[in-house]
Amino acid sequence: MSTGARTRPLTTALTALTAVALTAAGTLTVGAAPAQATGAAACSGYVGLTFDDGPSSSTPALLGALTRNGLRATMFNQGNYAAANPSRVQAQVGAGMWVGNHSYTHPHLTQLGQAQIDSEISRTQQAIAAAGGGTPKLFRPPYGETNATVRAVEAKYGLTEILWNVDSQDWNNASTDAIVQAAGRLGNGQVILMHDWPANTLAAIPRIAQNLTARGLCAGRISPQTGQAVAP
Ligand SMILES: [Zn+2]
Repeated sequence: MSTGARTRPLTTALTALTAVALTAAGTLTVGAAPAQATGAAACSGYVGLTFDDGPSSSTPALLGALTRNGLRATMFNQGNYAAANPSRVQAQVGAGMWVGNHSYTHPHLTQLGQAQIDSEISRTQQAIAAAGGGTPKLFRPPYGETNATVRAVEAKYGLTEILWNVDSQDWNNASTDAIVQAAGRLGNGQVILMHDWPANTLAAIPRIAQNLTARGLCAGRISPQTGQAVAP
């Protein structure tokens, strides 16, 4: 009897909850159709998400987070890591990412002579291509350091130099909040600097996706013609 007395209110409560859930689901369904219909067209602009210094042991988790959140990005790989981890380059491509050149050993290129710069860039082109990443058309110099000699070598290999409009500071131990806020400053066509390895960057991915969606922005590729983010 005491059991029945408990069951009856519980059943009533569950029925009420079910009704609420159904109502909520119905509301969501009704609301979702027009939202989705306009969602694709509501890409009012594109931003370039970039992740430097991979591929590494962090890459699979990063790719998983990007994929789950519907984001595509440009991965500026080091040649030495691409040569050591070709399957991770393939995973980047398989996840819909674009692959760029970030030098072979991440030196300060402006302190090197032209032959050494050439070696850094050409070996990376070969390593990425050999790993299945295609021949890169985009180059990001380590530390953003460039000069006329670096640019001449880039031109020799048909590479467009890509720096950034927004620095997430993730390399400098920025918090997840700060990384999300940095992405929130991106405007149409702009590029943000992030890295393959920081845990805070990985943690920021879902909120970066939410922020972009809320502002009608989508993740795009970086055009080698203009250096700007454009529709994939
Ligand atoms: Zn770097």
